[in-house]
Amino acid sequence: MAAQSGINESIIQIFRNEFVDYFGFADLYRYQAELVKSGGKIVSGYPRGISIGIALPDVIVDFMPDREDPNVACEYKTHCYDIMNERLNLIASRVSSFLTQKGYRTLPIPASERTNEAEAIPTVSHKMIAHIAGLGWIGKNCLLITPDHGPRVRFVSLLTDAPVNGTDNPIEQRCHECDACVNICPSKAIKGINYETGSAREDRFEHLKCQAYFESMSEKTKWDVCGMCLTICPYGKKRNE
Ligand code: SF4
Ligand code: SF4
Repeated sequence: MAAQSGINESIIQIFRNEFVDYFGFADLYRYQAELVKSGGKIVSGYPRGISIGIALPDVIVDFMPDREDPNVACEYKTHCYDIMNERLNLIASRVSSFLTQKGYRTLPIPASERTNEAEAIPTVSHKMIAHIAGLGWIGKNCLLITPDHGPRVRFVSLLTDAPVNGTDNPIEQRCHECDACVNICPSKAIKGINYETGSAREDRFEHLKCQAYFESMSEKTKWDVCGMCLTICPYGKKRNE
């Protein structure tokens, strides 16, 4: 237990230095088959995960209704997407080096990269690791919804056999009767069904409709962005009211 808390504390210090807003340690013991299904052999044999999240700047996200304005679209694509992903990947790489130097097998999972384009699935779902680590729930918009910043957080994850003090404590959905993201989605991709453990994403979200909307946006501005389903969520907006 002393070694566990020592490693957790060392990693948390890295997060503090990097202005990380969310972090959690996930016990992946009962999710091994699910992990290998999406990520293949390279992700097998890791009993724990580390989830890292950075909150998106509200001063940009709140402008997404004006996303056809190239100034807004460029800000969002650069500072809510590209730079955030770079920062998250660098933090994951640093934690990975730290744990590797300590003698532990550790795999950083790239942020926002799909390895199965047809189904829009990454090597490992960052939402899944964050959910197991107790950082939030899966919303009707299929994003990870944190209690304080709603879906306005970008995540990355690592897999490791280091003895970090992990938890398997997913938060139950708190969307309840809200349909704000369903109603505002311009492509009608969100079906309005609450997430239940084990439910298939395609029963709740039509990713091809969302993708088609992005493609239509790229004809209007060179920065194809949307994000209305995260802008509208009351769990992200309530701090500004
Ligand atoms: S990003 Fe836009 S199009 Fe895609 S689901 Fe969210 S609101 Fe709908
Ligand atoms: S907008 Fe409402 S339904 Fe959609 S994710 Fe947020 S709380 Fe859930």
